Amino acid sequence: YFNEESVVFYNGEFIKATELTTNSYSQSLHYGNGVFEGIRAYQTELGARIFKPYEHYKRLKFGAEVMNIQFDYTEEELTEITYELLERNGLKDAYIRPLITTGQDMSLLTSGETNLIIQCWEWGKYMGDRLLRVKTSQFQRPNPKSCFVEAKVTGHYVNSILSTNEAKKEGYDEALLLDMNGNVAECSGANVFMEKDGKLYTPPRGHIMAGITRSTIIEICKEEGISIEEKHFTLEELKQADACFFTGTAAEVIGLESIDEYQFPLDWKKSHGYQLTKLYKKEVLGQRQKAKAS
Ligand code: PMP
Repeated sequence: YFNEESVVFYNGEFIKATELTTNSYSQSLHYGNGVFEGIRAYQTELGARIFKPYEHYKRLKFGAEVMNIQFDYTEEELTEITYELLERNGLKDAYIRPLITTGQDMSLLTSGETNLIIQCWEWGKYMGDRLLRVKTSQFQRPNPKSCFVEAKVTGHYVNSILSTNEAKKEGYDEALLLDMNGNVAECSGANVFMEKDGKLYTPPRGHIMAGITRSTIIEICKEEGISIEEKHFTLEELKQADACFFTGTAAEVIGLESIDEYQFPLDWKKSHGYQLTKLYKKEVLGQRQKAKAS
């Protein structure tokens, strides 16, 4: 993720990644009281283009707010810092990881100073390019009455780690998690869509991360006349679907081969999901907007 030359942003300064230190009395380290984001930048003819930075930083600020972490940067300031960080690292195609940590205090009340770290590195498609073999996890997504499921709080990711460890240990690529009511929720780090009889379905907000890729895909579908509905569905219904795919900033759009023992029957290249991998790529590069305008 970094080398001798890598630069990170830390509390108002650009410093060498090798000089960054961790406070061992941080609530983020002990209790998971931190907030983060995952953003991508893409190389275009006009240089690096960060995809939807405002939306990502809005979500970061929402996370800080619900955790009562004092955080005063604006979306515009954060975006500007991020462009400078990319430039200082000589990166155009990059994954960007902002992280807010809380300072020195071992109580269970949010307290201590706030730290902002922004790091970036080159990262290929997080889940690869191959169709995924997915396992339904024994773990459910967190209950929205126990935490703010739409906030990217570091501690929430223990659930993602448990389910990913479980899936990989059993020889699968990724995990699918249900919500507390038994409906399909999402993958450990991505949202889920299924295709049935030419129409797409994705779970509504409530028990899932409100993915920025998810909402981008919904918008693209509406613009391209692909029928899409936000609706709960069960695992049994998913196992009668024609095709299925995950969406996320790190994973982008990635198809599934199977869920548990069930193989999705539709040829991936004939699915809406496949078409959407192409449209999403154009969208992040700013090429769909241009096509629309002309
Ligand atoms: N679900 C979870 C649990 C995630 O961690 C992520 C990644 N932030 C997503 C879905 C996808 O969100 P986005 O498209 O905003 O990256």
